[in-house]
Amino acid sequence: MEKENNIHTHTVQHCHIENDEQFAGLTVNVGVKQPPSVNPYMKPRVRRTMPAVGEIVEGILRGDVTMLSRAVTLVESVSPQHQSLAQEVIEKCLPYSGNSRRIGITGVPGAGKSTSIDSFGLHVLKQGGKLAVLAIDPSSERTKGSILGDKTRMERLAVHPSAFIRPSPSAGSLGGVARKTRETIVLCEAAGYNNIFVETVGVGQSETAVHSMVDFFLLIQLAGTGDELQGIKRGIMEMADGIVINKADGDNVDRARLAQAQFRSALHLFPPTQSGWIPEVLCYSGYYDLGIGEVWDMIDRYFEFSKSNGYFDTKRQQQARYWMYETIDEQLRRNFYNNPEVERMLREKEARVLSNLQSSFTAARDVLDCYYAAGKGSV
Ligand code: GDP
Repeated sequence: MEKENNIHTHTVQHCHIENDEQFAGLTVNVGVKQPPSVNPYMKPRVRRTMPAVGEIVEGILRGDVTMLSRAVTLVESVSPQHQSLAQEVIEKCLPYSGNSRRIGITGVPGAGKSTSIDSFGLHVLKQGGKLAVLAIDPSSERTKGSILGDKTRMERLAVHPSAFIRPSPSAGSLGGVARKTRETIVLCEAAGYNNIFVETVGVGQSETAVHSMVDFFLLIQLAGTGDELQGIKRGIMEMADGIVINKADGDNVDRARLAQAQFRSALHLFPPTQSGWIPEVLCYSGYYDLGIGEVWDMIDRYFEFSKSNGYFDTKRQQQARYWMYETIDEQLRRNFYNNPEVERMLREKEARVLSNLQSSFTAARDVLDCYYAAGKGSV
């Protein structure tokens, strides 16, 4: 030990000037040799190369979840290169799509959407087949993986081998987010998912978008809070093919029954639906798995009804047309606003309009004229 100490002192003395005798009272210990900041044993990371379109499509048709996820990531990507790949994949999957029940589920936060989707999902999967749960939520805060579509909120489905849960595409314009979800539906159907749930928060415009991509629209309500308190607008109720009152359990059952009666009478005041279907109002408990079968029987009845009177196909055609025009609108808008000439001129014109130097209408006309004249109106 003593020998070791001697060696140590000796080395220290050589390394540090402060250990010289002239600085009596000072000693500096040698530090430990630092390891390199980069791990020398680390294997270089191999970047996954993007598989060819044919390979992705084949994988999807085989029901390969990894390939499906990668295709959805392409759909959600903002890179033009990924976008064109995504479009090729979608185009090739289209002939294999359409064979599913698309169900939209909405309700204010706290209504019990995730809990209910978990229960409804398990009920559906007991009958066989596969289920994809998608979401539309254009607000950026909520899409960072913690709210809609979050797997931890659908505990049983998250571990079910036949369920595919995908959160909302991240923020963007509502039209953009919704279009991506619609394209994802096509991919999921091609991968054999014959039940598609699309979840959305019942507080804004997103219901209209969901309504335009699903066959059946389910509105989850709660008892005991006034309609206006729930932030549910009349328009959303009008869109619903079924209204279900959740949390009909414990001492809440009576209140739920009362709400059921109120909703039933409120629905009488609405104009008849395009499909001829009379929306039903039911009570259930997503948490305690009560009345789930009844809700599902209603949905089964709707599909039978709308398929037998031809409305099912009519609605899908209307939706296909709607999405074509939506996509055109979106691309035109993006092309216009991303044009550097337009961007510059908009700033200038806006300032003029705000200082009352020009009217809004002539300013708009000038910008549009400039856009057309520049011949950059190509999409
Ligand atoms: P979401 O925001 O609409 O997705 O609602 P959640 O599914 O996260 O549910 C919100 C809260 O309501 C959670 O604390 C759930 O446990 C509770 N909840 C959901 N369904 C029921 C139900 O059927 N009965 C009762 N008593 N509570 C429920």
